[in-house]
Amino acid sequence: MLRGAPLLTRWYDGRTPRAHAVHVHIEGETLVIAPQEPDLGVQRHPVARVRWPERRTHGLRQTELPDGGLLQHADPAEWDAWWAAQGLAESFVVGWQQSWRGVLIALVTTVAVLGITWVWGVPWASERIAHNLPEAIERRIGAESLAQLERLFLRPSTLPEAQQQALQTRWQAMVQRAHPAGDAPAHTLSFRASPRLGPNALALPGGQIVVTDELATLLHDHPDVLMGVLGHELGHVHHRDGMDMLVRSTFISALVGVVFGDMGGFIAAVPAALVTQAYSRDAERRADQRAAELLHANGVSPAVMATLFDRLRAHRSQGAGGDEEAGLLPIAIASHPADAERIRFYREWAPSAR
Ligand SMILES: [Zn+2]
Repeated sequence: MLRGAPLLTRWYDGRTPRAHAVHVHIEGETLVIAPQEPDLGVQRHPVARVRWPERRTHGLRQTELPDGGLLQHADPAEWDAWWAAQGLAESFVVGWQQSWRGVLIALVTTVAVLGITWVWGVPWASERIAHNLPEAIERRIGAESLAQLERLFLRPSTLPEAQQQALQTRWQAMVQRAHPAGDAPAHTLSFRASPRLGPNALALPGGQIVVTDELATLLHDHPDVLMGVLGHELGHVHHRDGMDMLVRSTFISALVGVVFGDMGGFIAAVPAALVTQAYSRDAERRADQRAAELLHANGVSPAVMATLFDRLRAHRSQGAGGDEEAGLLPIAIASHPADAERIRFYREWAPSAR
């Protein structure tokens, strides 16, 4: 079947630089090239084996033949009209590429999808992963994390045993009163000396809360404020912020671990993440909220927490002590922003506010 009129164009045989005038047309699935010079035979090529020109806006149309020959057509509009008359389905991609608007839409869509994935997808997926990891993995991560911090920052506590015991008892009583149904998240509280972290507290995956001797000493006359700090750390345990942060910052390794069941890469990435990453502002707000609720449930005004920020500020302005460095461990409470907003949160907190 002949589709459309033959087109007069130029053909090169691929061996000599001489152009020959030919008529081309398509019969069924065959491209037929009929030279005007009678001594050159008619050629046939399967349409599918011909490299047809991409339809761009400008430029001559060059068609590559399977035997190394070439068709060249100087007038793109004429070629395109002939091509269209052949009724062959134009490649979707060629048509798509032609439109700058199509390119722009494709680009914007790609960027948007990547952006949405990064901004919402990774945090969303991290939370799912963090909340679905087996407890044994979380405990192992917690133990590795503590071991890492002990190497870097922590020393055995030198607080008198009686003082430690008094704080433990006070804390357990307050947790009991805030969670009469016994639904407090599982956790442990321990004390460590830390000349490097100074007055500080932190929560690790698996529910380990660590308070430095320096913080206990700084707040020795305000045990309720220390309880508020513990309430904040228990908030991080409750929301599993430690695991969430570790999964988010080592996302690919964690994902591989969950999908393929090999947690080696994830666990190896934990130490670096632990000492460089911070909890999100949202996580800190939620932890502050938990602290306020715990104090309130014990008849203590959350406004007492202003003392924490005052004391930390005073401590720092005295030049701190030894080799202490502010912000050394971003997940620890002394590294959190003690800005006016946070102080106002505790000062103005009321149970009806939520
Ligand atoms: Zn915190």
